[in-house]
Amino acid sequence: MFDLTGRTALVTGASRGLGRGIALALARQGADVAVNYRGRAAAAAAVVGEIEALGRRAIAVQGDTSAGRESCEAIVAATLQALGRIDILVNNAGITRDNLLVRMDAAEWDEVIATNLSGPFWMIRAVARPMMKARGGRIINMSSAAGRMGNAGQANYASAKAGLIGLTKSVARELASRGVTCNAIAPGLIETELTADLPQQARDYVLGVTPLGKIGTADDVAAAAVYFASDEAAYVTGQVIGVDGGMVMGS
Ligand code: NAD
Repeated sequence: MFDLTGRTALVTGASRGLGRGIALALARQGADVAVNYRGRAAAAAAVVGEIEALGRRAIAVQGDTSAGRESCEAIVAATLQALGRIDILVNNAGITRDNLLVRMDAAEWDEVIATNLSGPFWMIRAVARPMMKARGGRIINMSSAAGRMGNAGQANYASAKAGLIGLTKSVARELASRGVTCNAIAPGLIETELTADLPQQARDYVLGVTPLGKIGTADDVAAAAVYFASDEAAYVTGQVIGVDGGMVMGS
C-alpha cells in the first residue's frame, strides 16, 4: 500500500514543521524528494541528510515561493535538472500575519496572499506542463481549517486558505483528463513552530471545539499527503480532507 518507489516529490517549505514531516513520510514510502526552503539552508540540508539515510535521493532547493512566477519556475527547473521529474508537488509553504481586521495593514494582507495563495498558483503553473506531458501527477495543497470556517484575527490567512480550496478544485477539473489529481489537506491545530507561540487561551478554545480533544502531529498530516500521493488515491481529486480531530465536518 502507498508504495511511492520511483516517484519524485517537490515539497515547498520543507526545512521544518509539516513540510519536513511530509518530505520524510514520502521518502519512507520510497519517493525521492526535493526539499524547498527559503532561508534555513542548514535545516534543509539536515532534512536532505535524513532522506538520504532512508536510501532515497534528495536535494535542497532554495527559493521564495511568494516571489512570483520566475521564482517558482526556478524552483521547478532546479528540481527537474537534479532529479529528472516531478510526480508529486506539495504546496506546503505558508505563513501567518494575524491581526484584527480593523488593524490589518497592507503588508500583512499582501504577504499572506502572496505566500499562501499566489505561491501555490505559480508552483502549479510551473509543474502543470511536465505533469500533463507525463500523463500523470499528484498536486497536494496545504489549506487549513481556518479556510473552511473563517477565523477571527485571520482574515488574510483564512481568505488565502479558502482561495486555495477554489484553486484545488479548478486545477482538479482542468487537469483530470491528463491523469493529474489535485487535492487539499485542511489541518486543524497541529504542533509545529508555527503554532508554538499560540496563547494557552487559544489552545484551550481549539481543544474545546475538537471532538478528538487533542492537538495533531506532523505525522497525522503527513499520512494524508502520502495517501493523496499514492496510486491508491487515483480516483480521488478535487477533495479537501480535514486532519483536524473532527473540528470541521464537511458534507
Ligand atoms: P512552519 O512555519 O513550521 O513551516 C512553514 C515553512 O514554510 C517554513 O519552513 C517556512 O520557512 C516556509 N516558508 C514560508 N514562506 C515561504 C516562502 N515564501 N518560500 C519558501 N518557503 C517558505 O509552519 P507549519 O505549521 O509547518 O505549516 C505548514 C503549512 O501548513 C502552512 O501552509 C500552514 O499554513 C499550514 N497549516 C498549519 C497548521 C498548524 O497548526 N501547524 C494548521 C493549518 C494549516
